[in-house]
Amino acid sequence: MLLALGLLFAALSLGRCIPLQQGPSRSKLLLVSFDGFRWNYDQDVDTPNLDTMAADGVKAKYMTPAFVTLTSPCHFTLLTGRYLENHGVIHNMWFDTKTGVRLPYYTTQGISSWWDNGSLPIWITAQRQGLKTGSIHFPGTKAKYQKEEVYKKLVEPPLFNYSNEANWRQSINTAMEWFTAENLDFITLYFGEPDSTGHKFGPESTQRKNMIKQVDRTIGYLRQRIRESGLESNLNLIITSDHGMETVIKTNEIHIRTFSNFTFKDLDFELLDYGPNGLLVPKEGKLEHVYSVLKNAHPKLHVYKKEEFPKRFHYANHSRITPLLLYSDPGYVIHGRYKVQFNKGEHGFDNQAMNMKTIFRAVGPSFKKGLVVEPFDSVNVYALLCELLGITPEPHDGSLEVTKPMLRESTGNEGNGSGPSPRPASKLPLMLGLALVLGCWGGVF
Ligand SMILES: [Zn+2]
Repeated sequence: MLLALGLLFAALSLGRCIPLQQGPSRSKLLLVSFDGFRWNYDQDVDTPNLDTMAADGVKAKYMTPAFVTLTSPCHFTLLTGRYLENHGVIHNMWFDTKTGVRLPYYTTQGISSWWDNGSLPIWITAQRQGLKTGSIHFPGTKAKYQKEEVYKKLVEPPLFNYSNEANWRQSINTAMEWFTAENLDFITLYFGEPDSTGHKFGPESTQRKNMIKQVDRTIGYLRQRIRESGLESNLNLIITSDHGMETVIKTNEIHIRTFSNFTFKDLDFELLDYGPNGLLVPKEGKLEHVYSVLKNAHPKLHVYKKEEFPKRFHYANHSRITPLLLYSDPGYVIHGRYKVQFNKGEHGFDNQAMNMKTIFRAVGPSFKKGLVVEPFDSVNVYALLCELLGITPEPHDGSLEVTKPMLRESTGNEGNGSGPSPRPASKLPLMLGLALVLGCWGGVF
């Protein structure tokens, strides 16, 4: 009797202490990203499982990613609802303009200071409000944020095969186990395709179409496992991506080294050979000279001083952005000292280009059925995730109003409105190493 009273009292006080908690009615949420899934990849391949999901839930005509359309930056926009210039993860690569050190995608995943610079990803916000979260391979998973980290995480080893279908199914099984046995509320799940195949063979290739069939089979398997796990009525599923993919044009290429009057001796630092984007730090007194030499050097190359970069990109107003920025028109990549980029597909381009647009699909108890919604910007996804989880968002750049029409009248939750330093290295071995591994890190993400 005393024990029962004690439990009752504990339950009552718990209810008062956590005002947002909706008890057993809170829906779980699974956010899935298939890297580099262009908005129209399902239009030239049979995708029965994606079609069924659209009939059962909501499909956006397409989603516009943030600029630059690179993997880590765009995923961090999904997790924070902020543009790149506000969340600070402005590139896939960690770099230091003073030492010249640049680190590739995988290494950068482990450098907390690159990720943790003011904007809190939704995992941490959810945990602070009493939820249990997990993440499998999602960009940003490995980092710590204000000394906190995702409760359950799987981080891939350095030479991970991002394309293996059996691995994908294992990841799905792990997520289901975390939802059921561990009672997690929110999991992010990342797959490295169809990005890798799009880079290697091009977005119009047979290989890319076959990879979309693999993605579709995986979505079928995922939804089957959700049903088998008894989660169908209690789990909202969102399937989205970070950016699209463009066929690389191999004629009239942009090769900085060949431009007349340009010399790398005028630079203190450059981040080039990474698709269509470039960051430059001219030597003292050389900014105007380098700018004027590059400005009209190639009809497909755009060169800006940091403060003059177009505001619509929401990109340049951050301390990590260098005094000069370059980007090129769709299809054209920027070559630096040497030609080391050989991909047939690339991204990183203007987010207004249709081939950079990506997908957004959702199904579950909170979503309407068979609804196709107008395109929207990915910066708005974060507010939706917070609404679905019933948590109060951090300050962000999006709005729940954009995605609210997708939701049924009652979502079951109350609405809430709106590292370690790298080793110092000399530049020469670094550049050699850069040239050697560029084929690798330029090839994916
Ligand atoms: Zn990507």
